[in-house]
Amino acid sequence: VHVIPLKSGDNGAFPWRALLVLADETASKRAERMRGDFLANASHELRTPLASLAGFIETLKGHAREDIEARDKFLNIMQDQTERMGRLINDLLSLGRVEMDEHVPPSGDTDLSGMTQDTIDSLTPLAKSKGITIDFEGDAEARVVGDRDQLFEIAQNLIENAIKYSNPNTRIVCDVHANVGREEIDRLTNSLGREAGRLTITSPALTGGRRYAILRVRDAGSGIERRHLPRLTERFYRVDGQKSGPKEGTGLGLAIVKHIISRHRGGFFVESRPGEGTVFSVCIPSQKARPSSGDF
Ligand code: ADP
Repeated sequence: VHVIPLKSGDNGAFPWRALLVLADETASKRAERMRGDFLANASHELRTPLASLAGFIETLKGHAREDIEARDKFLNIMQDQTERMGRLINDLLSLGRVEMDEHVPPSGDTDLSGMTQDTIDSLTPLAKSKGITIDFEGDAEARVVGDRDQLFEIAQNLIENAIKYSNPNTRIVCDVHANVGREEIDRLTNSLGREAGRLTITSPALTGGRRYAILRVRDAGSGIERRHLPRLTERFYRVDGQKSGPKEGTGLGLAIVKHIISRHRGGFFVESRPGEGTVFSVCIPSQKARPSSGDF
């Protein structure tokens, strides 16, 4: 609410002394508050490993210098903290980039199946180190309208999470289905049965008979309680009990994935059963079928 006093002379023929302006600032105030929260969170997340590094440097300069065992232990912790800061900075830069071009429509032509198999190949050594296998099922080719690097980032984040939150010696299954419509999407994103928690995070535009390719990443990991599902894509949100779990998470991966999917006008779904596992599904608009030579 603004009250603007009017000088005599401003009000001409009208007898008013002041102007009362009522403006709905809810949206802009909310955006401002979110920016403030984001900066506070980002600085806190970066300051924590930095403070720990400063502490260990002090200790190493002091009494731990002579104690080789303690020195090696501290150096290992310092290496972990440095790597954590690197991951945070990379994820923050990635989030900035995807936010910046969220309103620019993608134009590439990418095979979601081939891209997913490449992602699996690049993450297989990480999975193997936990005794986890990643299998690919589904269609041989699924051409979508999409930026290959960004689609790679989606698959990488989802498969990395599946590895992070899976128990050792379990199996992750990725599958891709080409050219699906509304009914198949409904069926494919309701794969864990009625008891499972399920949420449509971003809904695809299913108008005008639009066709999609869908990628699902299924793990047999810790699962996520229903009440956490709506908050998973909030920046820095991590499920409580898992904070002390895998230390490598930043809480930014799913926020990045959601932005990329919105840019591609796609859909994003999660289903989970605590203690049994989770399925994240992403659908991206298919390329229009090319006319075959017989159509001319
Ligand atoms: P992080 O870097 O912490 O993994 P994300 O944004 O990728 O951040 O995920 C947010 C949170 O969602 C994670 O911290 C974890 O609690 C939960 N989560 C994500 N993927 C899975 C999964 N496949 N299984 C169980 N929990 C998951």
